[in-house]
Amino acid sequence: MEKLYSPKTISEIKEKYGFALRKTLGQNFLTDKNIVDAIVATIDPHPDDLIIEIGPGIGVISNELAPRCKRYVAIEIDNRLIPILEDTLNEHDNIKIINADVLKVDIGKLIEEEKKESNSPLNRVKIVGNLPYYITTPIIMHILENQNFSAENFIESMTFMMQKEVADRLSSQAGSKEYGAITLAVNFYARCEEAVRVPSGAFMPPPKVTSSVVKLIMRREPVVQVRDVHLYFALIRASFNQRRKTLLNSLMTCGYVESKAMLKEALKASGIDPGRRGETLTNEEFAHIANTISKMREVI
Ligand code: SAM
Repeated sequence: MEKLYSPKTISEIKEKYGFALRKTLGQNFLTDKNIVDAIVATIDPHPDDLIIEIGPGIGVISNELAPRCKRYVAIEIDNRLIPILEDTLNEHDNIKIINADVLKVDIGKLIEEEKKESNSPLNRVKIVGNLPYYITTPIIMHILENQNFSAENFIESMTFMMQKEVADRLSSQAGSKEYGAITLAVNFYARCEEAVRVPSGAFMPPPKVTSSVVKLIMRREPVVQVRDVHLYFALIRASFNQRRKTLLNSLMTCGYVESKAMLKEALKASGIDPGRRGETLTNEEFAHIANTISKMREVI
């Protein structure tokens, strides 16, 4: 099927299938070919890639990418879109459509299965999605937390359309108001590049916000070496849950320190002023504290 990005095609599909867009699922469909092309260029697909798409909608991105890779898996939560996708994408024989909530899909396992099923080696794994805005951060975290730094099942990049405000958070600096737990978490696993700003007029219906296409280029090694990843992320979460509190107070809730005296000692040994707030700390500084606490806990 041609021109899936055309508002006329979307209206025809709505009519043919009696389909009504569901706002609660973040259904703002792309209607700008230039943006679709920019997404394709950002992903830089290769004939032996495995590409996984989150939220294909009626298949506007899938239709352009599937012919440019080896295997294409599209994960769509809305079962009303499945027969539509089977229709709009019927000329591609390398597509698998999965009707599921991406937050419940084990992406590592999916990659493993795809690799097994493919009769020739798959080169790189890339993920793409014009993400539903209501769960952008949980989706990114769901994939990152399952990311395997070792060669097997390694995801090379993720190209996501997201609200501009979220994109700004991902590339913000320590101490700025955009800086948050998501900034540190994403930076731990990936380097971010903003590819293109997208006005709301590029969607049907237009959302109330400006969007950005961001490419997350996965690191082969985390940005900092930590002895205990869970402890490291517990510190980040604790300090941003109570953003306005000093480290000496906020980190008490991380679940890894027994007393204020212990925390004070850990901060001192890490060279971090206990009166600072978590929102001013870099990945390296959180790693110092995490590694110090981890060593102290070994001795106790
Ligand atoms: N890719 C299409 C496009 O660009 O026109 C649609 C993008 S639309 C912003 C988001 C899509 O994600 C919708 O098709 C929606 O049904 C789907 N979606 C929403 N929540 C989802 C979830 N938890 N898992 C998988 N898909 C989801």
